Amino acid sequence: MKTRVILWIVFLLGGGILFQECSTVEITGRKQLNLIPESEMVSMSLTQYDDFLKTHKLSTDKEATAMVKRVGGRIAAAVEEYFREKGMAHKLKGYQWEFNLVESPEVNAWCMPGGKVVVYTGLLPVARNETGLAVVMGHEIAHAIARHGNERMSQQLMAQLGGMALSEALKTKPQETQQLWMTAYGVGAQYGVLLPYSRMQESEADHLGLIFMAMAGYDPHEALSFWERMAKASGGEKPPELMSTHPSDQTRIENIKKLLPEIMEKYYRPAK
Ligand SMILES: [Zn+2]
Repeated sequence: MKTRVILWIVFLLGGGILFQECSTVEITGRKQLNLIPESEMVSMSLTQYDDFLKTHKLSTDKEATAMVKRVGGRIAAAVEEYFREKGMAHKLKGYQWEFNLVESPEVNAWCMPGGKVVVYTGLLPVARNETGLAVVMGHEIAHAIARHGNERMSQQLMAQLGGMALSEALKTKPQETQQLWMTAYGVGAQYGVLLPYSRMQESEADHLGLIFMAMAGYDPHEALSFWERMAKASGGEKPPELMSTHPSDQTRIENIKKLLPEIMEKYYRPAK
């Protein structure tokens, strides 16, 4: 794991320092600065994902596992269709979708770049049903699709290393440099639903997630009650500093209400 991070940093150095890439988030059209080649984000994720599965137990609940795989498969198909329609299929290059249910009391789920999705059994009572699960899986997949981890990591690169050459940073601050990846994409207890991204990224993931679930045949209205249940489930657990940067649950629900009519009209394809 550590070796892989270092190898990756060395790759960046050897590759002529940072690739300065300005890209656009689908739907919102927001410009984002992604300094890390997406192919590297994907390959890094695959390694992390393997490590995660080696150290965590898969659920033995066959029915629930099948549900996670079914919802994931339907949303992934919707994502691919969406990108094909927009002529952007190449943006999913390197994606190898996989959906697993992991035995853990945590109310959490995440998706890494490359399409590796994990749902924790602790989330299931909050999801309550298949449509509720589609809300959260659509949302997490949207974070990956919108390259939010790359953006977060790029911002930290700029903020923490600033004018310092990466090579210098690696020599004098190896720990901090390595920490960049871990904070942006560490598969720890905190990553995923438990540790939200910035307000803007959360809204983007909500918007894209609603589109994907609607295209996959799940009624996006479920998002309203899901996020209310989620707010109750995580009530009191969020550290105060997180609350200040994260959209309040009420704001999130209001924003979703505003989006729903358009999503229903343009994207909802009820399952046959
Ligand atoms: Zn989120």
